[in-house]
Order: sequence, then structure tokens, then C-alpha cells
Amino acid sequence: MKSDTPKNLKESLSSKITKEIHSNEFFYKHIAELTPDAVVIHSGGKIRYANPGAVKLVQATNVGELIGKPVMKFIHKDSVPLIQERIKKMLSQSKVAPFVEEKFITVKGNIIYVETKAVPFTFQGEKAILAIIRDITARKQVERNLQFLSEANNLLSSSLDYRTTLANITALAVPHIADWCVVDMKTEKGIEQLAVAHVDSRKVKWAKELRRKNPPDPNAKTGVPQILRTGKTEYYYEITDKMLVATAENEEQLELLRKLKFSSIMMVPIRVTNETMGVITFVSAESGHHYTKTDLTIAEELSKRAGLAIESALLYSQAQQAITVRDEFITLASHELKTPLASIKMYGQILHKQLEKRGDTALMNFLEKMDQQTDRLTLLVNDLLNVSKIQHGKLEYNFEDVDLTTLVHDIVEVMRQVSLKHTIFIEGEIKKTVRADPFRIYQVLTNLLTNAIKYSPEADKILVRLSTDKKFVKITVQDFGIGIDPDHQEKVFDQFYRIIDPNKRKFSGLGMGLFISHEIIDRHGGSMSVKSDKGKGSQFSFTLPSVAHAT
Ligand code: ADP
Repeated sequence: MKSDTPKNLKESLSSKITKEIHSNEFFYKHIAELTPDAVVIHSGGKIRYANPGAVKLVQATNVGELIGKPVMKFIHKDSVPLIQERIKKMLSQSKVAPFVEEKFITVKGNIIYVETKAVPFTFQGEKAILAIIRDITARKQVERNLQFLSEANNLLSSSLDYRTTLANITALAVPHIADWCVVDMKTEKGIEQLAVAHVDSRKVKWAKELRRKNPPDPNAKTGVPQILRTGKTEYYYEITDKMLVATAENEEQLELLRKLKFSSIMMVPIRVTNETMGVITFVSAESGHHYTKTDLTIAEELSKRAGLAIESALLYSQAQQAITVRDEFITLASHELKTPLASIKMYGQILHKQLEKRGDTALMNFLEKMDQQTDRLTLLVNDLLNVSKIQHGKLEYNFEDVDLTTLVHDIVEVMRQVSLKHTIFIEGEIKKTVRADPFRIYQVLTNLLTNAIKYSPEADKILVRLSTDKKFVKITVQDFGIGIDPDHQEKVFDQFYRIIDPNKRKFSGLGMGLFISHEIIDRHGGSMSVKSDKGKGSQFSFTLPSVAHAT
């Protein structure tokens, strides 16, 4: 019992204080005056009471700017219907309305996001509403900005096309941070407006008209030309009519500027490889928003990312141009080389016949070596031509039913003459015919066997394995040579890809054979792969779809 006494005392004291507080109007008033949240009482649509938090919330200077004013004056048009509905319900049902998110508008015209909780209340004998309003603009802004920047990353990395990238920038900005967004870029023609967007796409033509009638003066001390020179951002919190009058060069321009209803502007430089290459102009108009420092940070962040995306797009287009020039050169060079090679071959044959008549075996021997080298050169030139034909989708194919086992035996027979050091073993057989171009398959197998010989200078054995399953036939060429590092294995099928041998051994080649082979197998509906152990050897395999059972 003893120990309960202090508890009872505490409880009775606390209830006494509570009762006293409840009857103390002074206490309530002070809560309202001291809380950082906005507290507002309104009745008949007019504000009757507003605490200092409310004055601060709507960016007013004193409470007089609020008392007696219509509540709806401070509510953004998007939130008006919802709030009217809530007020009606509260007054008729006398219920507390839970916290909801709404958009308010301050006396300075800025949009703010708030959370409000409201309760019906009798104020000076009238039915009123007491609302507690909390500013959540900063939190909303952080959330929206994070989401915006992650969207920006996705969209800006989705294209490597220069024009699309510029259009993506404006599409990102509108409507998130601007009613208007314009991208101006430095080009060989001067300053060009390369992308424009507006929340209402019908109005885009106004911006274009404004620019057409008033091209930027390169010596202007403000705006796009100045930013391109200095690389410095320009920021206008408020666009006044006085500013429009000062900017407009004539009545017509002034009229158009007024029609555009600009309220705030941010102009941010776009830097590409440390040079100011363009300007993004963000304009707030119809929304009536005035840009804040946070908006500026976001605009500058977007411009930074835009600069990187533009840089990638430019590099990509330069690389594409270089590739086109290279491909055109390869096509031309290989055509030009073919004619003299054919002549050398023909004159060699005439010479060979003459020497044969004279019985000059020593010179005939040299001539045969020369002929072999001419054949090698012809093969290389043909490969170059094949590569360029593949790029233009012009490599010809003549499909027929092919008996691959016989084809493999024929090729291996020829290859046995190429390297006397290596013994080529054939294991298994292909029990189905395939629909293929025998010349192209010959090309693929020759390439695989040539590589197997070339890249296994220390070995003396090569295996060719043939196998058949339900839908595919498979051919594998295995060597016991230098092998391929895992990092390079997928890339060996790329055009002109060659691996530098760390042991500095020099293997001749141009990195075309596997690219051509891969393309050929692809066109046959098959697939090509490699398995390799560095230092132990490689296995190159390809499959081809089979068509019918052989007996
Ligand atoms: P190349 O004419 O250079 O041999 P390929 O396209 O046939 O061109 O091969 C591309 C690259 O792949 C070669 O330069 C070589 O580095 C590697 N490679 C191809 N086949 C083998 C193999 N059997 N063993 C080891 N490396 C190989």
C-alpha cells in the first residue's frame, strides 16, 4: 500500500493540471502561437485566425495579409476540388479529417506541398474549421528530385543519337522542372535551337517563331551567347513586365513575350569535354512557379548529365563515321588488289609452262613458291572482300544438300599437305545431310584448321570430331596449342580482333577468319563457340541444323 501512495499522488496531480490546462484559453493560444506548424481557423470561406507558422508558410510578412482573406486564395487549383469536398463533409458530419497531402500557393506565387489535418470547430459562435498544416515541400522535393535524376539517367543513356539525346533532355525537364525547355547548341551555323518542349505541345511553335524573328545577337551581354562565352549560369527568380519591356526590340516581340507568361528562368551551360557547347533554358510560365536554389541545383545536375550523354553521342557518331570510311576503303582496296593479283597468277602460269619446256626445274621450284604466296595473298584479299560484303549484307550463299562427312574428309586431305608436322585425326561421322553452302562451310573448316595448325606450333596432333543429334550436327576442331585466355574467348569472333601473344610470338593474320566463319554459321541457322585452356589448347565448334536422315 505504501508504495502506491506516490503513484496515486502523481495521478491526481496530473489530472488536476490537465483540468486546469483545459480551462485555460491562454494555454491553447500559446500552443498555437509557438508551434512551428501552421494553424488556421476559417469560417464562411474566410480566414479568421492564422498563427505565425501560417504567415511563414504562405510567405507573407504579417498576419494581416491572411485575416479576412479567402482560404481558396492559398490553395493550388489542383487541390481546390478535394479541399472543398473535405470542408463540406467536415461541417456536415463534424468529423476530424485525417492528414492528407495538398498543394498550396504562397503570396509570392510559389507552389508548396503540405500535409493538413482539420477538425470542425466553433469559433466566435460560428461553425468553423481548425486546420493544422505542415510544410512538406522540402521532403517532396528531395523525393521528386531523386526520382527525376534516376529517370534522367535511364533516358539519357537510352540513346547514342545526338538529336534524340537533345530531345530527351527537354522531354525530361518538361513538366518536372519547367513549363518550357529549350536547348541551344553551338554549331558550324552559329547558335542553333535544336530542341524545344512545352507542357502544351501546341505552344512549341511560339518559341520557334520567337527565335525565327529574333535570332540571338552574338554580342549580347546576357542570355545564350553570353553563357556560351562565359560558361556561367543565369538565373532570374522573377520575370517582371519591366524586364520584358527592356528585352523586347519591338512592340510585336513584346506582345509575344507577354503572351508566353514567363515567370522565372534558369539558363544553364552544357559542358562537353570542358568546353561550353550549349545552353539549356528552363522556363516557368503557366505554373507560376518561381525557381529556387534547389531547382537550380537540379537544373545544373541535369545539364552535367546531358553534357556526358552528348559527349557519348558525339564520340559514337565520330566512331561510326570512322568505321564507314574504313569500310569504304577496305571495299575499294580489295577490289583494286584483285585485278593485279589475277594478272600475276596468269603470267606465272605462262612462265611455268615456258620453264617446263626448257626443263628448268630449279626456277620452276621458285615459281611454285611464288605461286603459293600469290594464293595466300588472294585468300587475304578475298577475306577482306568477304568482310565488307558481310557488312553490307551482300555475301552470297548457294544452299544445297551437303554430305558433311565427305566434305570434312576432303578438306582434311588438303590441309594435311599444309602442315607435315601435324597429324589430323577425324573421329565420328555425320549421319544426316544438312542444307548448306558447301563452299562457305569449306571456308569455315579451312579457317578453323588453319588456326589450329598456326596456333599450336609445338604440337603434332589435331582432332576433328563429328557428331549428330536430333536437330543439329556438330563439328569440333581441337588443337593442343597456345590456348586462349578466358577474357578474350568471346571477342575472337569480332571483326579484326587479334590477341597479342604475351610470349611475343608473332602469328600472321588479320583477325577476319573467325568473324567471317561466325557470320557464315549464323546465316546457316547454326551457332559457333569456343572452349579453351590457356597453354593447353582450344576447341572451336559449330553446329548446323540437319534436315533429313541419311541411310
Ligand atoms: P587471324 O587471322 O588473326 O588468325 P581469326 O579471326 O581466325 O584471325 O582469329 C582471331 C584471333 O583469335 C587470332 O588472332 C588468335 O589470337 C585467336 N585464335 C584463333 N584461333 C585460335 C586457336 N586455335 N588457338 C589460339 N588462338 C586462336
